[in-house]
Amino acid sequence: MKSIVILGGGESGYGSAILAKKEGCKVFLSDRGELALKYRDALIAANIDFEEGEHTMSRILSADIVVKSPGIPETADVVRQLRVANIEIVSEMEFACKFTKSKIISITGSNGKTTTATLIYKILKEGGVNVTLAGNIGDSFAYSVATENPDWYVLELSSFQLDGCYSFKSDIAIINNITPDHLDRYQYDMNLYVNSKFRVCQNQTQSDYFIYTATDAHTKSYMATPVMPLNACKLPIHTSFVEVEEGGYMSEDMSHIICRAGGYEIKIFVSALEIKGLHNYANIMDSVLCALIVGVDPKSIINSVSSFGGVEHRLESAGSVDGVNYINDSKATNVDSAWYALDSVKHPTVWIAGGTDKGNDYSQLFEVARKNVHTLVCMGLDNEKLKSSFSGIIPNIIDANSLDMAFAAAVKSANKGDVVLLSPCCASFDLFKNYEDRGCQFKMKVENLK
Ligand code: ADP
Repeated sequence: MKSIVILGGGESGYGSAILAKKEGCKVFLSDRGELALKYRDALIAANIDFEEGEHTMSRILSADIVVKSPGIPETADVVRQLRVANIEIVSEMEFACKFTKSKIISITGSNGKTTTATLIYKILKEGGVNVTLAGNIGDSFAYSVATENPDWYVLELSSFQLDGCYSFKSDIAIINNITPDHLDRYQYDMNLYVNSKFRVCQNQTQSDYFIYTATDAHTKSYMATPVMPLNACKLPIHTSFVEVEEGGYMSEDMSHIICRAGGYEIKIFVSALEIKGLHNYANIMDSVLCALIVGVDPKSIINSVSSFGGVEHRLESAGSVDGVNYINDSKATNVDSAWYALDSVKHPTVWIAGGTDKGNDYSQLFEVARKNVHTLVCMGLDNEKLKSSFSGIIPNIIDANSLDMAFAAAVKSANKGDVVLLSPCCASFDLFKNYEDRGCQFKMKVENLK
């Protein structure tokens, strides 16, 4: 009987423990912090041995294999000790993939993972495919492998989850885009982060597929000199008019999206879509190509895409008050996602940004901010960098250190026909529990205004 130690008792660790137990392993879960009540109760109910508030190294070092939760960095003392002892450390994905024969669609990238994974799931489900959505969304992959047996998995994967993957293989792999994010976990070396994302393609053969954004600079440069072989059939997408035999692109007048795969061609008029913006057209191309490969009926694909309203906190309409349109893009926690938000807004804009800066280079936003933004409301405990970066770029800059202050200032600055856009470009932890909390509080403010 294999002895499995699981480090971290969140969604991922809990799922791995349930799967390991089901597969007849000896399981011990260790979390240095406190377990959420629901996981503690569930572990007790499943008769799984665990500890919290400490790591008992003697027990951890007796493992045959350690499944490490994605939140635990390589630099953590427990991981260092395991490396010294030469004990195999894998991610939840690596562990769980050994116990399923289902086909796997993996989505990774710096931005757009949740939107794309959710859309693919919707198209497949509505197209009659027996499919489960897992990974960063909903149940963990491991828990799902323990409790379900779908024909297809749609997995949203972060680079942290890919890091501990070795034999894991995707039948269809998607990399949306690669822009700097989480570099603190990659020794501030962009190449390491890019290599991590491309692990999604490892072990793929010629009968698998890889969908990628052809114009993404980091994707392009990796593909020119890949660290690991890229054997899959490659389907590029372009958010401009670049006709491809297989892949996705925009029509010359940008009025529709064209996707070609498996002998099919699908045209979708953007005017018929609920979600807007070039980044969303890219997410749609990824999703449509994926669905064509799986074999979903083209008519059903078009219906599913047309009725997709997006995901909460991602360029979500929070409503209109006195002719001002409020948009909640609280999930925009980095420069690239804020760029797309600013680019997609075509009206005079009051932009609420700020929070915990992750080493942002705001200069990439100057051009797009100049186009429509007349007021920047900085919402954070330390707004100095934002203010100095955009002074001279945005005419009106307001300092606020709470949502109350920021929202009141935004309402006052907005004229009829304007947009108030919350697209913070920063993490939320200085003033909020998380980005969901930030987005919900923003939407509540708009509701109260109505
Ligand atoms: P992730 O799961 O990768 O964080 P989300 O779908 O949650 O991605 O979107 C996060 C943020 O990025 C949102 O602000 C959203 O509007 C923006 N976004 C969505 N898709 C893309 C894309 N393809 N490129 C850039 N930004 C995107």
